[in-house]
Amino acid sequence: MTDFSRTSRRQFLLTAGAAAASSILLKGCLGNPPNPGDLSPRAEALELTPATTPEVTTVRLGYIPIVESAPLIIAEEKGFFTRHGMTDVIIAKQASWGAARDNIEIGSEGGGIDGGQWQMPMPHLISEGLITKGNRKVPMLVLAQLNTQGNGIAIANKHLGKGIGLDLTGAKDYIASLKKEGTPFKAAYTFPKVNQDFWIRYWLAAGGIDPDEDLDLLAVPAAQTVANMRTGTMDGFSTGDPWPYRIVRDKIGFMAVLTSQIWPFHPEEYLAIRKDWIEKNPKATKAILKAVMEAQQWCDNPKNKEEMVRILALRKYFNVPTEFLRGPYTGTYKMGDAKPDIKDAKLGTLYWKDSRGSVSYPYQSHDLWFLTESVRWGFLPPAILNEADRIIGAVNGEKLWKEAAKELGIASADIPESTSRGPEKFFDGAEFNPENPKAYLDSLKIKKIKA
Ligand code: CA
Repeated sequence: MTDFSRTSRRQFLLTAGAAAASSILLKGCLGNPPNPGDLSPRAEALELTPATTPEVTTVRLGYIPIVESAPLIIAEEKGFFTRHGMTDVIIAKQASWGAARDNIEIGSEGGGIDGGQWQMPMPHLISEGLITKGNRKVPMLVLAQLNTQGNGIAIANKHLGKGIGLDLTGAKDYIASLKKEGTPFKAAYTFPKVNQDFWIRYWLAAGGIDPDEDLDLLAVPAAQTVANMRTGTMDGFSTGDPWPYRIVRDKIGFMAVLTSQIWPFHPEEYLAIRKDWIEKNPKATKAILKAVMEAQQWCDNPKNKEEMVRILALRKYFNVPTEFLRGPYTGTYKMGDAKPDIKDAKLGTLYWKDSRGSVSYPYQSHDLWFLTESVRWGFLPPAILNEADRIIGAVNGEKLWKEAAKELGIASADIPESTSRGPEKFFDGAEFNPENPKAYLDSLKIKKIKA
């Protein structure tokens, strides 16, 4: 397991400085940002009332340059933060997930961040002091889901033709044989015990492969994983767009599966902010939420996709050619390994709405799945499920989401009535009923705990 903590803080300070400088530069020459081509007009500022005027105009939000962060970047670039009175938001690129965790712990007053983009259940683990230094509890609130889908599992080219796809049962013996030969299959994710670790574990286990016994899974920074896949020292990568496109295009590997195939419309990454900041700035929190909701709607609008691609591709954000981003936003994926290409917008990254309803609303039933899956793999003790209501109740900010949605005038049909999305179905037929997480655990063949 990689420890990111030491160098990352210094890297963050450098990156944050550069981000602040570039946002000042951009504001100094409005209408002439670097190379995105023609942009549509920014959102117009609202006339604020005493009830909607934020307590502060600034907040520091961290992000990782993958498609999950688009609502934060778009809220900044298209003027949605400014529209709601948050005129000085700083969107700070994080060197890694470990850096983001360290920066939330020190807060913006210490040169870190107040909140931003998170894999799950990082906000719960940070709130409970389970991944912080000295197990310090830093309470956080999850305010919105940023996106669904847009992630996948890429495999190095040396495993072409071995049947590594959605259904792994045909490749099970091959993976086992690598271990017997002393060269176990090595796959990476970017941070342990969160989304991308869960996606690859779920998929492997559904195919009869025990992720703790039959191969090596480890946390490695994204760029290093891709370099190692190229040289053949890494076999797989559980990751988010634009990496999958990049890996196939550069002939480094192929796509085994998209997360939208494993669990359609699954919860992905979230906006969460420190609770002390929210308690001090409740109106600013709702202003941020309203801006993010407007950005999510903007991002899902087909007529804005090309502009979104051009903004995200900018050097100060993702720093990639625009072609890397066009596919994911239209659900177009070259899979490789003789698999048919995918062309289905429903399988791509979505931000505001999907076929199950709201993407943005932070369902408590999804928090419960992340905690249940953490128990499945022995990341958290089974007893944590007895405390799930307390932990989720302390970290889930769905009430603020609803208040912000109503203030924004979101149609009531788009505001979920229940904190549960109801039963969830996975590709292998497994079902997670949030009313009975134990039945889900009992039903799974491969797991760390004896349920
Ligand atoms: Ca992700």
